[in-house]
Amino acid sequence: MLRFTYEALPARVIFGAGSLERLPDEIQRLGASRALVLSTPEQRAEALAVAQKIGSRAAGIFDQAVMHVPIATAEAARDEAKRLGADCCVSVGGGSTTGLAKAIALVSDLPILAVPTTYAGSEMTPIWGLTEGGIKKTGRNPRVLPRSVIYDPNLTTSMPAMLSATSGMNAIAHCVEALYAEDANPVISLMAEEGIRALAASLPAVVRNPRDIEARSHALYGAWLAGASLGAVGMALHHKLCHVLGGTFNLPHAETHTVVLPYAVAYNASAAPDAMMRVARAIRADDAAAGLRALSTSMGAPTALSKIGMQEKDLDRAAELAVENPYYNPRPITCEGIRTLLEDAFRGRPPTPR
Ligand code: NAD
Repeated sequence: MLRFTYEALPARVIFGAGSLERLPDEIQRLGASRALVLSTPEQRAEALAVAQKIGSRAAGIFDQAVMHVPIATAEAARDEAKRLGADCCVSVGGGSTTGLAKAIALVSDLPILAVPTTYAGSEMTPIWGLTEGGIKKTGRNPRVLPRSVIYDPNLTTSMPAMLSATSGMNAIAHCVEALYAEDANPVISLMAEEGIRALAASLPAVVRNPRDIEARSHALYGAWLAGASLGAVGMALHHKLCHVLGGTFNLPHAETHTVVLPYAVAYNASAAPDAMMRVARAIRADDAAAGLRALSTSMGAPTALSKIGMQEKDLDRAAELAVENPYYNPRPITCEGIRTLLEDAFRGRPPTPR
């Protein structure tokens, strides 16, 4: 029987090739005049170009964003925002850079204008993360939700083919878990299925030619829907596993999502048949788990944890951590079941429901 609660998050999205030109207007619209532009060290050139575009409304650049927002980096960025008298943050980059803007907004209420350059989806969520003493804490707070998001596919053409493939699979993972979320609802499920469809249809073309702007546009459109799905409903086993593997064993974020997804899907297949039917339909496959794995393989993306830095001796500990705190999953979580899943993912065996 249909029964759900649906709460829409406020979102303003400017989408399309060349939409970065709208950034100065968006800053003005927020009533801001001193923007702190954030980036990773690798994307400093992009941050500089953005600061130039903003002109006199740019207060400065902070280019030290790194994965998982270490508290020391967050504090340095907060100090810089204060020192410059910034009245908004413009994040130019992937989830790490958006995450840094969120760390500033969490304590200051500075509005965020996000300019995403990967498919991670953080720009559409009220979820923040901070790492202290090797432990990543996450939480939800509406004040960290970007006020305006500029999706310009031109900024994604520099994303290397493999980051595009894995970042795209990360986005697909948000959509997949949204379809079987505890608080799933028909509106977000429509967005999630369409997100999977758009990403699966465009990512292979993106990987073949990272400068294919048509394919880039469709992939970024899918990533938007994926971020919106992640922001709106709760996630389950797959995100928990990736959080453990990334946080405790330092495995790379997007690659970990890419490897784990078919196994998490196989684990949940019998408990979420409608979600599986929708995933399979979106990727045009007979079976959701096998189809997702085939998509990764077709793009040359990693398909085994052993290939992305996981040590066999850590599998037991990873399974223990993944079952530690109870959380929603369509199929009950058992230590034995998760240990088997991790073993399969470690070896890159075909993902089969067990
Ligand atoms: P990332 O932001 O760490 O970027 C990876 C690398 O790619 C960086 O060096 C970056 O500068 C570079 N890069 C980004 N875009 C590029 C482009 N267009 N061209 C060339 N290089 C580019 O990677 P990510 O996967 O986007 O983000 C991962 C982080 O985001 C993780 O810490 C994850 O936990 C977090 N995340 C948070 C949420 C949330 O809702 N809070 C959602 C998704 C991901």
